[in-house]
Amino acid sequence: MTELSLEQAKIQVNELRKKLNDWADAYYAKDAPVVEDSVYDKTYSELQELERKFPELVTPDSITQRVGGDLKSELTKVDHPIPMLSMGDVFSKDELQEFDQRIQKAVGHPVAYNVELKIDGLSLSLEYQEGKLVRASTRGNGRVGEDVTANVRYIKDVPQKLPEPLTTEVRGECYMGKEAFAKLNEQRDSEGLQVFANPRNAAAGSLRQLDPKVTKKRDLSTFIYTWVNPPQGITGQHQAIEGMHQLGFHTNETGKKLSSLEEVFNFIDEYTQKRNSLTYGIDGIVLKVDDLSLQAELGNTVKVPRWEIAYKFPPEEQETVVRNIGWTV
Ligand code: NAD
Repeated sequence: MTELSLEQAKIQVNELRKKLNDWADAYYAKDAPVVEDSVYDKTYSELQELERKFPELVTPDSITQRVGGDLKSELTKVDHPIPMLSMGDVFSKDELQEFDQRIQKAVGHPVAYNVELKIDGLSLSLEYQEGKLVRASTRGNGRVGEDVTANVRYIKDVPQKLPEPLTTEVRGECYMGKEAFAKLNEQRDSEGLQVFANPRNAAAGSLRQLDPKVTKKRDLSTFIYTWVNPPQGITGQHQAIEGMHQLGFHTNETGKKLSSLEEVFNFIDEYTQKRNSLTYGIDGIVLKVDDLSLQAELGNTVKVPRWEIAYKFPPEEQETVVRNIGWTV
């Protein structure tokens, strides 16, 4: 293949960014994707590769350098002093091995990972003051999200009050189970309304409503997996999840603290098999360095934490059913 000149690369980079920006707008702002995730991911990788070869073309507003989409909704905006970031992803076990080598090189020794299911929903922050839920917000662009407190009051598994008067913030995923998603789309179809493309978009479209009464009618759930400011004594991700579970949060019971990649690969194989039989959608497996002090040491890039990575499942054939979802391409 002939090498691209800087000028040619610039043209390609601009074309890829334009496509990705349009798709991201449909996905994040309108909750109505126009292409499949695998198409988006492939195009994103092409842009990343070009930016790696031509670092002088990287700009702060490139989609590879920012989280989520533009904040266009009329919902009240909420600052996230501790940003809600995106996550790096890989598509093969070889790339996971490279991730593990990078981590070991950075910290100087092997580490244990908390391995979790990657829930197909949207990130949610829950803030408590003296044990009472005072604010819920979406990730938005990572630094500024949308206030969805009134809507979240209708999500049954979100505790309105904690058993202890804690002032704290937890984060997790808001999702719609497969059964609730099928029912909602059946109902919308019978009413002649556009059906949702997938459970992720149904969850986002149901949570990001100006009228909380609409959210009330939708069957949303949560899995909470991040304790932003855990109490002293909590030193690991696995322990943090157990602690949040004890406080009454809905946590996912499948997460495991594993200390070898072989065990991680077995976990991946197990859930690649079990994926379709779960009652909620997952689109991959997340590896998180378990030790919270190592997480702090490794830190973040502008877009993703360095201490976690998502292994994404290959796309499923059934996702290409176009009639039902009203995709425009
Ligand atoms: P992402 O959704 O791939 O990964 C980060 C998110 O994973 C986190 O913000 C969190 O909400 C979620 N998550 C689920 N389970 C988790 C767990 N156990 N621990 C931690 N986080 C967990 O990243 P993103 O930046 O939100 O979106 C990028 C992805 O969205 C793309 O890879 C693409 O697949 C999809 N996308 C698709 C389109 C499209 O047009 N189809 C457009 C934009 C984005």
